[in-house]
Amino acid sequence: MDVTSIIDSLNDAQRQAVTAPSQAMLILAGAGSGKTRVLVHRIAWQIQVGGSHAHSIMAVTFTNKAAKEMKARIESLLNIPTHNLWIGTFHGIAHRLLRRHAAQAKLPETFQVMDSGDQLRVIKRLLNSLNFDDSKWPPREVQWFINAQKDEGIRAKHMLETNDLHQRQMLLVYKAYEELCTRSGLVDFAELLLRGHELLRDNPDLLEFYQARFRHIHVDEFQDTNTIQYAWLRLLTDGKDNLFVVGDDDQSIYGWRGAKIENIYNFQKHYPNHQVIKLEQNYRSTGTILKVANKIIANNTGRMGKELWTDAGEGEPCSLYAAFNEQDEAYFVVERIRTWVNNGGLRSDTAILYRSNAQSRQFEEKLMATATPYRVYGGLRFFDRAEIKNALAYLRLMSNRDDDASFERVINTPTRGIGAKAIDDIREIARDQSLSLWAAAIVLINQRTMSARATNALIGFLELIKALSVETVDLELYEKVKRVVEKTRLMELYQKEKMDKGEEKVENLEELVNAARLFNFDQENEEGMSELDLFLTHAALESGDSQGDDFEDCVQLMTIHSAKGLEFKLVFLVGMEEGLFPSQQSVDDVARLEEERRLCYVGMTRAMKQLYLTYAESRRLYGRESYPRPSRFLREIPAELIQEVRLRATVSRPVANSQPKTPISTSTGSYKAGQRVHHDKFGEGIVLQIEGSGAQERVQINFKQVGVKWLMLAYAKLDVL
Ligand code: ATP
Ligand code: MG
Repeated sequence: MDVTSIIDSLNDAQRQAVTAPSQAMLILAGAGSGKTRVLVHRIAWQIQVGGSHAHSIMAVTFTNKAAKEMKARIESLLNIPTHNLWIGTFHGIAHRLLRRHAAQAKLPETFQVMDSGDQLRVIKRLLNSLNFDDSKWPPREVQWFINAQKDEGIRAKHMLETNDLHQRQMLLVYKAYEELCTRSGLVDFAELLLRGHELLRDNPDLLEFYQARFRHIHVDEFQDTNTIQYAWLRLLTDGKDNLFVVGDDDQSIYGWRGAKIENIYNFQKHYPNHQVIKLEQNYRSTGTILKVANKIIANNTGRMGKELWTDAGEGEPCSLYAAFNEQDEAYFVVERIRTWVNNGGLRSDTAILYRSNAQSRQFEEKLMATATPYRVYGGLRFFDRAEIKNALAYLRLMSNRDDDASFERVINTPTRGIGAKAIDDIREIARDQSLSLWAAAIVLINQRTMSARATNALIGFLELIKALSVETVDLELYEKVKRVVEKTRLMELYQKEKMDKGEEKVENLEELVNAARLFNFDQENEEGMSELDLFLTHAALESGDSQGDDFEDCVQLMTIHSAKGLEFKLVFLVGMEEGLFPSQQSVDDVARLEEERRLCYVGMTRAMKQLYLTYAESRRLYGRESYPRPSRFLREIPAELIQEVRLRATVSRPVANSQPKTPISTSTGSYKAGQRVHHDKFGEGIVLQIEGSGAQERVQINFKQVGVKWLMLAYAKLDVL
């Protein structure tokens, strides 16, 4: 048997991990040390040498993209198809189990998965119907509360009655939300995991079956598993030593969403016969990038402690660019990418990583203006766009009449004369009689209390859905989608819409038909689901595959969170500013600040060849203008590892490690209107006025070259002439 392809490209520690006899294993190692590679090769080894069947193997990854990559890598190592392997995210795998065993999971066969936007809408509506004031009970907070309970495995019925009024009200909403979801056959993301766990826990035969089936279970990015995910792994591996996990405590970045770094310790306790293997050589980055990342993370406390090394050579120094605003920042980054491409580099080897999704817009605009293909992961997702959601809502209703979220979404879109009053009446009947909105609409029609016109409009809507279901039964999926966007007049609606990007919406609907045509039914289907249901689930679960196709060479844009596990030759870590990165909410809280620092470590260690760090001296974000200070993380980088870039010349005067330049004086007394000053970047100018005091003190200057600007005195590098 030829195993060279599996083990030749591994170092000793990696090889030891891949070829170890079956036992519980923890691979604890820093970024880029080959953890994911070990996991993939381990699976190949189990199949090729251990004689395991592909279907006895499960591997859990963090994103759909990672799962796809993993499958492709195993296929190319072994030259066999991998559709029998269960590789996916926790959510994806839980969903598969629930589809297979819907009845045992106490779910209707046609249950629909809601993404977090759908969930928020359902919660909003629920709060309204309970007469909760939105301003006192922000729907997002309620959503957060409910999901946090579910992530801990706690149902409303498990929560103790308390005297705390706030808690009592939350509990009430949680209960009502559970009832509503049950009634409508809706399952949110957190529910997938919780319900999946309950399914296995409460059905011993089923559990035994899956315990016997999955002889090997592997988990990538183990540091970011939450309580319910870990409980789930424990159930499946109960009494056995077949859990193989890889992770890095320094890359734990989902604490805010309930991930428990302690699971690494729990693992060691719960699987006493486990073996720990540490990998210390980094194969991804240059020496300089690695040093910068190591220096940053060294500021955190309570680390498990490991130092990475590389024999890749020092490489280029990291670069720092101080932009004067967010547009200049985007301009700079896009120009560097263009230079990279002009020198023969691939666009897909470059990534712009940001802390918050809202930052992407500036970069998108500059990329578009220069006709540079790009792709945004997360955030602006294709399946999240209003026109797509409308089309999907019709499809969902065709599949499940009780899907209230969809019903409400399209009952009057396009407008068909069903007014707010009628919709309110439907809601009220639904609430009073515990009916779905669909059933309530029928009740309302039969009451004959509405005007003939309104009644006809409502009947027309119900008949449209029914007719669509019947006449599309035998059509191919894409024909179904096409028929729906046409017959519902959605296509017509956007064709007529001159403003508000109607044309783009039409294209998006066409793209939806196309997505349905390309949908790989065979690969996704194992559970006997209808093609339509599979497609709808795919739309809800697919996080972040937006524009462009997989094969086009395009610049990659994503949050640092979604870059976890990935690598790019050229990385731009942008918006390195206090209040943005680290985020405003984290600056006063040590634990959260350390999580931000780990996020910074994750971002930096994505870079293979070159790392650029940028910040803006003034930034307009969420409609507000601010004058942020450079991120503290920049100051944690030793000066010799970083050099500041100027647009035309590169100066080696390192500024990152120095404190912000002390202002000439902190009092307004040091500047007077009419004074001549010099600024490093903007050149010579005249002071016009001064306002604010202390850290907020600002000065308005009329620069000869760039015109009038407001600068924060604490950071403006000004010399009086
Ligand atoms: P992260 O913590 O970011 O998820 P990781 O530890 O999972 O990183 P991998 O993505 O598996 O690391 O590997 C990082 C890079 O190093 C990949 O390009 C991989 O192919 C390469 N690599 C890993 N091990 C070796 C090796 N022994 N020889 C050559 N290249 C290797
Ligand atoms: Mg990895």
